[in-house]
Amino acid sequence: MSAEPLLSVRDVVKTFEVSRGFMAKKKLVHAVNHVSFDIMPGETFSLVGESGCGKSTTARMVDHLILPDSGEIIFDGKRIDNLTDREMQTFRRDIQMIFQDPYGSLDPRMKIQDLVAEPLLLHTDMTAEERRKEAVQWLNIVGLSEAHGQRYPHEFSGGQRQRVGIARAMTVHPKLIIADEPVSALDVSIQAQVLNLMDDLQKEYNLTYLFISHDLSVVEMISDHIGVMYLGTLVEVAEKKQIFEKPLHPYTKALLSAVPQPDPDHPNQRISLEGEIPSPVNPPAGCLFHTRCPYCTDICRRVTPELRDMGNGHICRCHRTEEINQEAGKDHVQV
Ligand code: SF4
Repeated sequence: MSAEPLLSVRDVVKTFEVSRGFMAKKKLVHAVNHVSFDIMPGETFSLVGESGCGKSTTARMVDHLILPDSGEIIFDGKRIDNLTDREMQTFRRDIQMIFQDPYGSLDPRMKIQDLVAEPLLLHTDMTAEERRKEAVQWLNIVGLSEAHGQRYPHEFSGGQRQRVGIARAMTVHPKLIIADEPVSALDVSIQAQVLNLMDDLQKEYNLTYLFISHDLSVVEMISDHIGVMYLGTLVEVAEKKQIFEKPLHPYTKALLSAVPQPDPDHPNQRISLEGEIPSPVNPPAGCLFHTRCPYCTDICRRVTPELRDMGNGHICRCHRTEEINQEAGKDHVQV
């Protein structure tokens, strides 16, 4: 693995203005707050958190679909807000997206073969016959046949459409694939097939993934590193093993406690969080998680915790990390 990250997200902030009516005063939604992470070539970094936590907004900034208010995003050694037209063309080829609902991104009037070949039309000077052959090859690689290429999107199941979405992304040999909830609309058995396909492609083509999901059990299957987001902020970042075996942040512990365990003799101790997620229009003072945290004390309501490295690159944003995890160790709390 190269020592340089393929993607660096540095202290990125994004707010949106919202208004509840023509005369109403505009308010700011704090969608992403000072988020930083690196992704090394060939690895999968997953952003996980509940709906509205800012993970998809972060992904859209990485894909240059929306611009951050501040901070910088560096892809393959270049700041993406400073690219020349020519560099932007290369960037558009090198980063591809896979969506939750591939049906929405596939033109229903086009044959599957033409949809898969479409990025080649945009990014290469291949002839029509070369594009057709390439599309058929990618259909075969993702487990579909040449005959599938002659059909239309509505004739496919959800899992098959996601395979088409993957083939379409892969035709231009991207360096990074952003997968935004790519399996959350699929049955569990189909989820595993699609994740296995993504895993095989990663090994074969040294792909790098930014994987977005609300589901930790899905994230466990594919990630190398995981960033847990809450209310626009990263609260914990670590290798997958550390997150699943030794989570430090109370929010991560609560999310993990809700993941079903295959062994009925060792069920999780479910940690139920009190209250609703606060509004990003009016986030709480101090620790953003304090309104729901079972370990909240006075300092949590007053002082915003910083991200701290707790060892081996395991980063956690909590004033009480040491105390909480010593207590958990004493009580043998399994999460
Ligand atoms: Fe909970 Fe306080 Fe830690 Fe926030 S800082 S997660 S409220 S213990």
